[in-house]
Amino acid sequence: MIPSKGYAVKSSTDKLSPWNFERREVQANDVLIEILYCGVCHSDIHQVRSEWGPAKYPMIPGHEIVGRILKVGNNVTKFKVGDFAGVGCMVDSCRECGNCSNGHEQFCEKGKAVWTYNSLEKDGITPTYGGYSNQIVTDEHFVLKVADTLPLDKVAPLLCAGITTYSPLRKFKIGKGHRVAVLGLGGLGHMAVKFAVSFGAEVTMLSTSPSKEADAIRLGAHNFCLTSDKDQLKIYLNYFDFIIDTVSAPHDYDSYLKLLRAYGVHICVGIPPEPIKVNGFVLLSNGRSIHGSSIGGIPETQEMLDYCAAHNIVSDVEIIPINYINEAYERILKSDVKYRFVIDLKTLE
Ligand code: NAP
Ligand code: ZN
Ligand code: ZN
Repeated sequence: MIPSKGYAVKSSTDKLSPWNFERREVQANDVLIEILYCGVCHSDIHQVRSEWGPAKYPMIPGHEIVGRILKVGNNVTKFKVGDFAGVGCMVDSCRECGNCSNGHEQFCEKGKAVWTYNSLEKDGITPTYGGYSNQIVTDEHFVLKVADTLPLDKVAPLLCAGITTYSPLRKFKIGKGHRVAVLGLGGLGHMAVKFAVSFGAEVTMLSTSPSKEADAIRLGAHNFCLTSDKDQLKIYLNYFDFIIDTVSAPHDYDSYLKLLRAYGVHICVGIPPEPIKVNGFVLLSNGRSIHGSSIGGIPETQEMLDYCAAHNIVSDVEIIPINYINEAYERILKSDVKYRFVIDLKTLE
């Protein structure tokens, strides 16, 4: 076993603090990655606090990992020592079922998708630990190639916030001629704006924070709508083809569904702890629909990283030392993050 260190919580009410643990030895298909940066996703907070059902403790969160390859197993072909690499939300799956074979490992039909943390390896016993740590051992199939031309700290959030917004935009072939609203300007929201603009759509930011208007426009949004102002919302009734909903807290879906024109789609990527409630008449009018989207498979995640490298797309980040993590969580909960915290793992002692 490889002695490792990270920041963990021991219960749903605990604060993150230093914790020593062990990673498995590097097997034939594994790589050992020295973690350089790890983004802080709102999903980390949901899981640390058991908001999505009972979590597994001790938990080391973190699934927006970039680092450098320190060691490769005998069968590894994709990487060599010294390469930059990324790990996102998944570290394994059955790899045999239809969905796995088609590169949709997050929907493994055998229920064998192994999440980067708060999960068990395929053996059903060994817990997984995430990226708020100094190193990780992962099967190369679930490790992404990261270009050395982009700043690595700003690449880290692409491993979750990036793929989660890229994937549904691609699935619906969103681009020129589409009117897209992005609901919530946080980690996912700011990536959704960047991708939707890059794909040629008309983009409107729907936000509860007046202070984010200038940033939304700087990120490329064409319009900004303050959702607490009913008069501003009215302008967009029956207007959008798509809404990308990145909101992490319970909210009123009907008021946003009304903004969709005929056959418009409300794409849920945010995962509030409470079930979604919708008025059937609002859904039926205009033939609206609600769609859910979960991260993206490994091939699409690589495609997204390659797209970002080719188009110079990265996340806007605030770099933090790891001992700032508990304050960072409080700021995320107040929607006070521009637009992703990223931990510099050099600060882990
Ligand atoms: P985040 O950085 O905290 O951003 C969420 C944004 O939502 C906030 O900045 C805020 O934007 C808005 N918001 C917060 N509370 C709100 C409320 N009560 N009503 C309306 N708007 C509100 O979070 P994130 O990391 O982007 O993650 C967002 C959600 O996506 C989380 O639930 C996370 O678990 C989920 N997620 C899902 C996937 C997936 O695969 N589907 C992957 C990653 C994350 P404004 O200030 O602009 O209003
Ligand atoms: Zn995430
Ligand atoms: Zn499978």
